[in-house]
Amino acid sequence: MNAKGALLVISGPSGAGKSSIIRELLKQIPNAAFSVSTTTRQKREGEVDGVNYHFVDKKSFKQEIKEGTFLEWANVHGNFYGTSLKQIIKMLDEGKLVILDIDVQGYMLLKEKVKSATSVFLTTKNRDDLKTRLLLRESDSKEMIEKRLENAAVEMTYINRYKYLVINDDFKTALAQMLNIARAASNKCVITDVDKFIEDWIKS
Ligand code: 5GP
Repeated sequence: MNAKGALLVISGPSGAGKSSIIRELLKQIPNAAFSVSTTTRQKREGEVDGVNYHFVDKKSFKQEIKEGTFLEWANVHGNFYGTSLKQIIKMLDEGKLVILDIDVQGYMLLKEKVKSATSVFLTTKNRDDLKTRLLLRESDSKEMIEKRLENAAVEMTYINRYKYLVINDDFKTALAQMLNIARAASNKCVITDVDKFIEDWIKS
């Protein structure tokens, strides 16, 4: 059968709860897999290289850009982030629902290359709520939080480029909505060669 996996892109301001939602999606959806990005940002406490990100220096990242490693890449808050094309192809070949946590710039690039990708914008109910979450996270400096809030206002202007919008006010509700979207995305009809698919179906 030549049916493949599917892509589920999740974007939204950092601090909106993307990581917590994704953690649950990975637990609850059997064929879901996370696209581990490459980044030049410093590792935060508790993060594991190869699990949360592949942490590299700027020189290696630039080299990878030259080599065409990335399906998309962007400069977010002064750091580079990129999605490995090889990794995505491998997971799609394995029939996975590939979950990508990427920023709006990255999504705009990816959208042109992978038309069938399902996309969700996840945000908080307002700016104040986002600020509180960023402060509670205690992982960024004051300047970084201001930068992330400024960036959030820009990111919000991309909302209508996404297929779905989820407001993370109550976590359980937001998760239920995301699970519905993710399950629908994994049932999406993505067949590369329809004629062959039908031929195989008739023969089997
Ligand atoms: P953080 O530093 O909080 O982990 O992530 C900052 C931002 O970078 C988030 O908005 C996240 O979605 C984005 N990001 C993470 N990985 C990638 C990637 O591979 N490509 C792009 N374009 N953005 C990414």
